[in-house]
Amino acid sequence: MQRRQFILQAGGLFGALIVSSQKVFAHTINKALDLTPLDTSENEWGELVSKQEFHILFDDGTERPNSSPLNKIKEKGTFVCAACYLPLFESETKYESGTGWPSFYQPIKGRVDTKLDLSLVWPRTEYHCVRCEGHQGHIFEDGPAPTGLRYCNNGLALKFIPDNKPLPELRG
Ligand SMILES: [Zn+2]
Repeated sequence: MQRRQFILQAGGLFGALIVSSQKVFAHTINKALDLTPLDTSENEWGELVSKQEFHILFDDGTERPNSSPLNKIKEKGTFVCAACYLPLFESETKYESGTGWPSFYQPIKGRVDTKLDLSLVWPRTEYHCVRCEGHQGHIFEDGPAPTGLRYCNNGLALKFIPDNKPLPELRG
């Protein structure tokens, strides 16, 4: 084998290994997950999450804008509920909304549920994790295509798992 040909073949093999390793580690959405709401009590969640996370998730809190390190994340991966670890958003649906909160145009199908929030003067659509019912944020109709929606999320209510790390086991 000529040296040049060997280098080309080795290069091709190395490229194939990189591609296949990315495939191995990218998260796949498990459509068979049990999404039945948990009956875990607020006291039990209090043992599993931080005080700040609890305030957002189970007390319908809102964090200060621009306070979340998740705002800056542009890597590929999955955003999971900070309480029960259910995957809620894929990084492909995250965008820079300029609001100071992590924003997405679409959740993973079936993973969030909504309710009408009348706590301010104008009505808003609240959304939460279907499994633990932890509050995530509000939906607004000024998002980008294809949905035109903005899921304005509290960063404290999510954890980012990059594609090269395994998703955590569900808890609660
Ligand atoms: Zn959850």
